[in-house]
Order: sequence, then C-alpha cells, then structure tokens
Amino acid sequence: MNARPTEVTADIPPTEDGSSLDALHTPWPDVASRLVSAQGVAFLPFGALEQHGPHLPLGTDTLTADAVARSLADALGGVLLPPIHYGDTWNNAGYPGTVSISAATVTALSTDIGRSLAASGTRALVIVNGDWGNQLPLYTAARILADDGILPCIVLNYPGMDEKIAEVRESKPAAPGLNHAEEIETSIMLALHPADVHTDRYEACYPVFPADFGVRPMQLDPFSPSGVFGDPASASADKGNALLDAIVSASLPILDAFLAANPSTAATGTAATSTPTQTGHTSP
Ligand SMILES: [Zn+2]
Repeated sequence: MNARPTEVTADIPPTEDGSSLDALHTPWPDVASRLVSAQGVAFLPFGALEQHGPHLPLGTDTLTADAVARSLADALGGVLLPPIHYGDTWNNAGYPGTVSISAATVTALSTDIGRSLAASGTRALVIVNGDWGNQLPLYTAARILADDGILPCIVLNYPGMDEKIAEVRESKPAAPGLNHAEEIETSIMLALHPADVHTDRYEACYPVFPADFGVRPMQLDPFSPSGVFGDPASASADKGNALLDAIVSASLPILDAFLAANPSTAATGTAATSTPTQTGHTSP
C-alpha cells in the first residue's frame, strides 16, 4: 500500500530511520529497546480467516489489517506485531473453509497479549481490527486492560473508511454499510495483493434481506451462495489505495490524542538502550 503519511503529530519523537520494527523478523534486544522507548507503541493487526467470495482469499481481512498496522507503525516508529490470523467470524460459519474463534477467545487472546507487552514495559497497544465480528470482543479486551491498569489500549476499526467509500464507490451496496467481497474489499486486495485476486471469477449478488437483518444474529450463507455481497466488477487498485490512505490519515489524529492522553515515561527524544524493565505501564 502507498500510505506513507509525511507528517506525524503524535507526541513521540521520530525514529532515526522513521520506520517500524517488525517483531516477527527482529531479535528480542532490538524489540525490547524500542518497546521501552517513547516509540514503544505496539501495533497488533487482528484479522480473520473468513470466506470472501470465490475471487478473494480467506485471509483478506488479515492482510488488510496487517497493511494498515504496518503503515501506522512506520509512521510512528512503533513495533509491528505478527497478525492474528483468526477472528470471530461466526456469521460466515456456513461457508466451509472459514475458521472462526469465539468472542471470548478474541478477548482472551488480545488481553493476554496486552499483559505480556506490559511486562516488557510497552507504552501502549494499538489493535488494528480487520473484521466486523471482532469489534465487541476487542473493545472488551481494551476495557479489561484499562480497568486493571495493565496497558493503555485502543482499537481502530478503519476510521475514515466510510467517508472514502462514499466518494469512490460506483456499485450499489448490498445493504447499508455492508462491504464484503464486493467493490470495496476487492479494490483493497487489488492494491495490496493483486496476484491473490481471481478477476475471472467475479460475480455479483444482491440478496433480499429481511427487515431484521443485522439486528439479530444471523448466518449469511442463506443469502449469498457465493459469499459475495454486492458487485466487485468496478473494483480497482486505485480505489483500494485511496481507501487505505484515507484509513491511515484518519487514524493518525486518533492515535495522536490517544498517546497524548497516555504520555511516555521514557526520556523524551532518546530511545532506551537498557534491558526492559519488568514493570508495566498503567493507565492514567
Ligand atoms: Zn472482509
């Protein structure tokens, strides 16, 4: 993705190279030093292994969250954690291949990760959520981490996306606010991983939903045999890049406010070089 904001206003000094540390590919002393510095913000992409029609990969939500988290971590010089590839995608259980975990597991997983990061002296945790079903369980985790004074945590659900969708969308949505395996998600995947998009398998689906759709728990497979909700035909990489840029741009002021409310205890402007302390940060 091309999102690379030029101006970062969050109250943390830029790193020397202005980029993130990717924990998956970095030795522990380097990650430990970054975590206890003023840049010690950890970014956790939280995805799902969920059907996305016959033309997009099961990992669509994970790959998208990972890209957004990477851009944000780069912008703030934070630590990028490996993505969680599974989420609460209960309403897609009728599509074989979808692998869903419970809401309680999503909450437990993210809370445990927050506790562990706090023990490393991490300043704050930013969870970039890629799937609708994870929203409530992730908010619950953020509350637990705050209530127990473990670690400041914020959950980002793609801020700025709805506004940009209103600008770029050419096809009709299958339902208000429903973006699944259609123009929007296909555009994002064309921007991020075009080789994973089976453009020869595009098909549209506009189900007739009951009046209580989205209000009561409901499986999706009776409404769309393919798993597509809407029409991917007008998708493009340009739209995908515009959407991703908009999400990153809208996320930065939110993170600015979040970090201003949770100031670093590290020496301003100097990255810590000692081994990490075992005392976690506490919420204000
Ligand atoms: Zn999705």
